[in-house]
Amino acid sequence: MNNLSNRVGIIGGGIAGLTLGCTLLKEGIPAIIFEQSSEEKSHGAAISLSQNALCLLDRINILSNLKNQSSITTTASINSPLQKICEFKTPEVLTTRRQILMTLLLEQYTSLGGEILYNHIFKSFDQNSCEASFDNHEKYFLSHLAACDGIRSSIRDQFFASNQQPKYSGYTAWRGIGKGNLQSVHFTLGPSSHIVSYPINSDGDVSFVACAKEEYEFTESWKEEGSFNDLLDDFSNYDPKIFPAIEDSMKLYKWGIYIRPPLKSMIADNLTLIGDAAHPMVPFLGQGACMAIEDAYAFGMLCKKTNGNFHETQKIYNFIRSKRTNKIQRMSMRQGKIYHMKNPLLVFARNAVMRFTNIPGNDLQSIHDYDVDNAIKTHA
Ligand SMILES: Cc1cc2nc3c(=O)[nH]c(=O)nc-3n(C[C@H](O)[C@H](O)[C@H](O)COP(=O)(O)OP(=O)(O)OC[C@H]3O[C@@H](n4cnc5c(N)ncnc54)[C@H](O)[C@@H]3O)c2cc1C
Repeated sequence: MNNLSNRVGIIGGGIAGLTLGCTLLKEGIPAIIFEQSSEEKSHGAAISLSQNALCLLDRINILSNLKNQSSITTTASINSPLQKICEFKTPEVLTTRRQILMTLLLEQYTSLGGEILYNHIFKSFDQNSCEASFDNHEKYFLSHLAACDGIRSSIRDQFFASNQQPKYSGYTAWRGIGKGNLQSVHFTLGPSSHIVSYPINSDGDVSFVACAKEEYEFTESWKEEGSFNDLLDDFSNYDPKIFPAIEDSMKLYKWGIYIRPPLKSMIADNLTLIGDAAHPMVPFLGQGACMAIEDAYAFGMLCKKTNGNFHETQKIYNFIRSKRTNKIQRMSMRQGKIYHMKNPLLVFARNAVMRFTNIPGNDLQSIHDYDVDNAIKTHA
């Protein structure tokens, strides 16, 4: 038996878990991460992060290093498979390799004295005694349990909604990194499909996500590999020049996008859900990781504000975060429908709105302008 009853136990060393670890340790609150894998592994190519998450990464001191290894874009162009629809200014978005973000978070966490126990697969939790047990037969008394264990969260299954397994969203995505000469975010919208490309550094690396509506259920995995020819088969109505130059050695991944319905509450006795464990979403607004960062930072700062009163922290956390994440989950789903319109009249109307109004830019601005510190100040 290990007595760590002064430490917050974080299950999962992904984006949410590491951000929470950094926030807690920076605020002087002891924490420990338990991770199921044997080392930090990051799949999934690239990631885009907007200002609502970037300002928080700045407050945990990793933003300037992240910027040095990434790309910043401030314009987006929207195209049909045959022609350009419009170009508009966007709030600043940082685009980078996922691996770079993970490495910087991990380095910051360890430089603050943080510890990760690898090969620890969460098994069960006693809510009364606050004791967590793992598959390797280790047991730990903790001050609180933060579930950052992603879309397949077994903590969510055990304590929140056992009958709501992740469900195929109807969308399948291809993802890869190639070479190109792109300075902005480039969207191409076709019937029941779309492709997003963006630069991820100053070395000419370009990331793309090619997303299609597919009836059959494709596996949810970051690691399923496919070939460039398979990709071109799936997107045969697009000009292949849209894709950055893919070298033979470059890996392409294809996976099904899964979702879970919104929860009534993200908290239970002595445990709190954070990130994808609470609200996995379709990636059409690029907000899943941003929400995980907002959640983790909010929970960590609230622990500090309430002087380690977890009950009080949870109440405020649940109020602030449920509202925000439910809204972004809904908006992300709606964005998929807008991108994938098939009816020619609706497509015409959508393109006209994009070309002649500021609505797309304003919608993004309202999501990116959110500062979770303001919500904490108002409610704590
Ligand atoms: C195609 C696609 C593109 C995306 N693009 C973007 C984007 O551009 N911008 C953006 O903001 N978001 C994006 N997202 C969403 C983003 O990737 C996720 O929201 C984010 O990774 C969630 O982080 P997390 O830490 O909550 O979960 P995860 O990253 O899934 O981490 C969970 C961690 O918990 C560990 N774990 C799981 N179970 C256990 C257990 N039982 N015991 C111990 N450890 C466990 C796992 O090993 C893992 O390390 C995208 C998603 C998809 C599918």
